Amino acid sequence: MQWAIGIDIGGTKTRVALVSADGVIGDLRVAATPRLAADVIATIDTLIAEVDTQAASAIGVGVPARVDVSSETIFSGGFVDLSGPSLVGRLSRSRGRPVFIDNDASMALLAEARFGAAKGCSNAVLLTIGTGIGGAVLVDGRILRGRATAGQLGHICVNWRGPRCVCGLRGCLETASSGTALRRLITDAELPGDTSIESLLARQDDRARAVVRGWAQPLRAGIDSLVAAFGPERLVLGGGLGAAAVRALADFPAASPWFQCEVAPAALSDNAGVIGAALAGLEARP
Ligand SMILES: [Zn+2]
Repeated sequence: MQWAIGIDIGGTKTRVALVSADGVIGDLRVAATPRLAADVIATIDTLIAEVDTQAASAIGVGVPARVDVSSETIFSGGFVDLSGPSLVGRLSRSRGRPVFIDNDASMALLAEARFGAAKGCSNAVLLTIGTGIGGAVLVDGRILRGRATAGQLGHICVNWRGPRCVCGLRGCLETASSGTALRRLITDAELPGDTSIESLLARQDDRARAVVRGWAQPLRAGIDSLVAAFGPERLVLGGGLGAAAVRALADFPAASPWFQCEVAPAALSDNAGVIGAALAGLEARP
């Protein structure tokens, strides 16, 4: 059996795991993600040392940022800025193994397509809905990279007159249907700040329904556009709010008969990133 080390640097948690080629986690370590890049690297070093074995022949790293895979360049991300240090060079020197780096959503989609909610699909789209919205696209079995950083699906426009996004555009999907946007809708509706999406979905009153509608309708518009653009066999929603978003969308079906697509919750939950990173590391070995 072939093994690799998968590393998933999330906005909140960093996961490092020893993963087999058939997607089984042999050992897993989880730690809080520090804010500073130097501390993130130190955390990764500590966690790798705990799971590393001679059997691991490659390392894959998923980062919450735009990544140019061909040049191994990380562009500044939203929550942890890893654009400064050369993560790949440093890791490959210290661990003596080839290292592959990509965006975290691309890693998660690879795992979901191989073993999870998009199993058997050659064409699939993933949205990760958390503090922000990440995305990845699988076309004919391969992650779509475009010129360098394709798949920034949180930044497709759902309202060209909408609020300014961190990326510089207006009315991005992330500004309307992320966890941050949901929190704002809850506050604007004068509901308690700790109101959960689950409690909103369970309620039938007008105020709760208005919040769910305000959050889910732009998401449906974004999904309709993605289905029109990529024609996926399945569209997977992951991240902390993925499963709730699938339920919320049930009341807002795709409007056009042309652009129907099954929307499914992610199946590998928090471990999709480490599993996908390890697989990508194995597949990218020279
Ligand atoms: Zn944007």
